[in-house]
Amino acid sequence: QAKGEGKARFRIFEPALAERVEARRTLETDMRRALKAGEFELHYQPLVDAHSGRVTAAEALVRWRHPRRGLVSPADFIPLAEETGLIMPLGAWVLRTACTDATRWPNAIKVAVNLSPVQFRDDRLPEAVEDILRETGLPARRLELEITEGVMFDDEERTLMMLSRLKAAGVGLAMDDFGTGYSSLSYLRRFPFDKIKIDRSFVRQLPADAESAAIVRAIITMGSCLGMTTTVEGVETAEQYAFVASEQCSQVQGYHVSRPLPSKDFVAFLVGQKAAA
Ligand code: C2E
Ligand code: MG
Ligand code: MG
Ligand code: MG
Repeated sequence: QAKGEGKARFRIFEPALAERVEARRTLETDMRRALKAGEFELHYQPLVDAHSGRVTAAEALVRWRHPRRGLVSPADFIPLAEETGLIMPLGAWVLRTACTDATRWPNAIKVAVNLSPVQFRDDRLPEAVEDILRETGLPARRLELEITEGVMFDDEERTLMMLSRLKAAGVGLAMDDFGTGYSSLSYLRRFPFDKIKIDRSFVRQLPADAESAAIVRAIITMGSCLGMTTTVEGVETAEQYAFVASEQCSQVQGYHVSRPLPSKDFVAFLVGQKAAA
């Protein structure tokens, strides 16, 4: 009877699985084509100094301008790019494009680039970063790499070695989506991060929710005690902005300041800010 059941289940699930495999294969082929066709683009979201309100950096966020599907968000293709290894050429393209774009920005505004844990697993990453800085002419201090807690799990010794090599290259290191992983506290002490980016899940219910407020306040205090700056992500309202600024965070990012903008619009945003100041 158990055998019979197994067969029935197999028959029910087989088509769905085959369909899924097929869909992934199609997407993979499509991504390879898109990379060659130049369909990926970077949008930039301003990060402002919490006190002056001035733009001091921008985060590069990749999008896929698909001929039929329109603008595709990274959540819909980064995971598959990571599984297939396509994240390596895509990630290199992102890094090179972001550094090139940033050389054209005024006031030594920094560019923040997200690194996939898969890119981080490649020992040659620090040299690749240095090569791109040399090729594009962007000073290392103007590049910041955003790394999620995910990379910390692999192998602590190796992680420390990789982060130290990147740090020695002169780039900034930010821990992204802080608070969503595990063992965050020991990692902060152990690894040479310059910045903590507080995940937007802690911001959503600010300023009304006392527990969210306590967590954000505690992370900002801890960061500053450990010599790290803090960026609060996902600030969507004036009330949230006022709260996090009053809590002495260093930097604010979120729809309240600006959505991620196509490169051209980001530069226009900078010009507009300057005019307003
Ligand atoms: P992330 O690095 O945490 O980036 C911040 C995400 O939050 C972005 O989503 C941004 O558009 C969104 N966001 C910013 N402000 C607000 C806000 O006020 N409210 C809300 N609801 N959302 C806000 P996006 O662009 O869809 O990117 C999602 C994730 O995809 C990123 O999260 C990052 O993990 C990944 N990603 C994006 N670009 C790259 C890339 O070039 N390489 C890699 N490896 N990952 C990338
Ligand atoms: Mg990020
Ligand atoms: Mg983030
Ligand atoms: Mg995130």
